[in-house]
Amino acid sequence: MGLMTGKRGIVFGVANEMSIAWGIAQQLREQGATLAFTYLNEALEKRVRPLAESLDAELILPCNVGDDGEIETVFKTVEEQWGQIDFVVHAVAFADREDLKRPFSQTSRAGFALAMDISAYSLVAVTRCAVPLMKDGGSIITLTYLGSQRAVPNYNVMGVAKAALESSVRYLAAELGEKGIRVNAISAGPIRTLAASGIANFRAKIKLMDDYAPLRRTVTQTEVGNSAVYLLSDLGSGVTGEVHLVDAGFNVVVSA
Ligand code: NAD
Repeated sequence: MGLMTGKRGIVFGVANEMSIAWGIAQQLREQGATLAFTYLNEALEKRVRPLAESLDAELILPCNVGDDGEIETVFKTVEEQWGQIDFVVHAVAFADREDLKRPFSQTSRAGFALAMDISAYSLVAVTRCAVPLMKDGGSIITLTYLGSQRAVPNYNVMGVAKAALESSVRYLAAELGEKGIRVNAISAGPIRTLAASGIANFRAKIKLMDDYAPLRRTVTQTEVGNSAVYLLSDLGSGVTGEVHLVDAGFNVVVSA
């Protein structure tokens, strides 16, 4: 018996084998979860499908989280197949690379709205569709980063979107607790992924971890996955509205 045996859920955000969502999915499967996956577009489907199949995924569906109709279709299909779900992993974010390159004050109106829509609002939209399927309660996690709380160089508009995401976690948790639905965020240290490649000088963030984080290194997708298992399983049954740090302790030190 694994910690997730008998639980079914949807993983949004696998792009490739470097994705944090992939690290999470592997740990969930290892603990017995039954999984559905979504992918952004046809180009990514080619990458995601074989990965998902290797974890015996029962559903592999397209979903652009910028489109309410696509989100609704995912949950309708899942409801037809499973009737109900126990968890959702939201590991999705996007900002225009051009906006991330510019000084923060030069962020375009459209770029600000896009980052907020895909990286923050999508959690609200996904949660709204998940709630009716969480008939016996459930657990939802999203992924955030320290740039929500501090002005981290080059993180810019994504930091603002992550602040909105973390606040959304608290409001969703407050609303849904009485239904037995928990909502939490994992704030991960920097990890080399496709999304991270859009952040200028990302290497410097990894170097800071190596130099100053109490564990003198950054974290792995597997370590984030282990915390996801805690929050999505009954081990985390008393935890909601939290930002759970998986950052090798970096948050507690002051870097030079
Ligand atoms: P990733 O590129 O592997 O994952 C990002 C995912 O978002 C991709 O699967 C992409 O297809 C998806 N996506 C983007 N726009 C979308 C849309 N409109 N609809 C549906 N999906 C869309 O990178 P990652 O680093 O694994 O990112 C996962 C999450 O972790 C993100 O929220 C990211 O901000 C967060 N995070 C990353 C780090 C890091 O250092 N890599 C640190 C902390 C938090």
